[in-house]
Amino acid sequence: MSLTFNNRVALVTGAGRGIGKAIAELLARHGVTVICVSKSAESCGAVAAAITAAGGKAKALAVDVADGAAVAKASAELIAEFGHIDILINNAGITKDGLLFRMSGDDWSSVLATNLTSCYHWTKYIGRPMTQKRWGRIVNITSVVGLMGNAGQANYCAAKAGMIGFTKAIAKEFAARQVTSNAVAPGFIKTDMTAALPPEAAEKLTAVVPLRRLGEAADVAHMVVFLCSEEAGYITGQVFTVDGGMVM
Ligand code: NAP
Repeated sequence: MSLTFNNRVALVTGAGRGIGKAIAELLARHGVTVICVSKSAESCGAVAAAITAAGGKAKALAVDVADGAAVAKASAELIAEFGHIDILINNAGITKDGLLFRMSGDDWSSVLATNLTSCYHWTKYIGRPMTQKRWGRIVNITSVVGLMGNAGQANYCAAKAGMIGFTKAIAKEFAARQVTSNAVAPGFIKTDMTAALPPEAAEKLTAVVPLRRLGEAADVAHMVVFLCSEEAGYITGQVFTVDGGMVM
């Protein structure tokens, strides 16, 4: 199926590596102008440069998504430059794992701020002109552990479950303005986030995946890009797992 994008502009957070990079590149291949946000200027700069070199349209912007004031400033500047942003992908995320009794307040707060509160800031600032224009797509990258829980990740699971509630609330708030809000929940995907796993842990993970392999960033990107297309205009408030069949 070919997907329709009418000269849209997208902002992808965490576009410097992994899943966000794959989403940014696939959107660009569909003719979407992509604003690539990451924490370091180097990673989003490299992705934007690669998109441009391949004939696409991209801009790089280093913003710490956990810093609400920085997100407000960046959003105002981007809206002044582009007029509006049609597609928002809240993908930036971190883990700081540990069993609850050993989890510091900082590890709790920073994971909540980066994964969840960032969605509040970006959606508030980018969402207003989207609703005024009466067309928009918001996709929040949560995780299967936001649905299932996972020992040692209370902070991350709370943030990812929070993103699902946020996604559904925004779907209801923005629906009358033809702005959709959906969540995509990846399972185990091969990125820097999972690269640190020892080979035996990766083997154990693969054994619990019915499709018997870890996912690729592109597997997630295809679902996200579909949800951003014209064709997905009647889908909102949903959570789509891309996990090789783990959650059924
Ligand atoms: P990754 O390879 O670690 O890349 C994370 C990206 O987020 C990087 O570009 C990083 O920026 C950016 N980022 C992190 N903190 C940031 C901050 N404070 N401000 C701005 N950007 C920030 O991660 P990934 O595996 O692709 O994961 C992407 C998303 O999918 C995350 O939300 C993650 O929770 C979710 N997810 C991943 C998996 C998995 O198996 N990989 C499974 C389920 C869900 P820099 O490049 O500058 O460091």
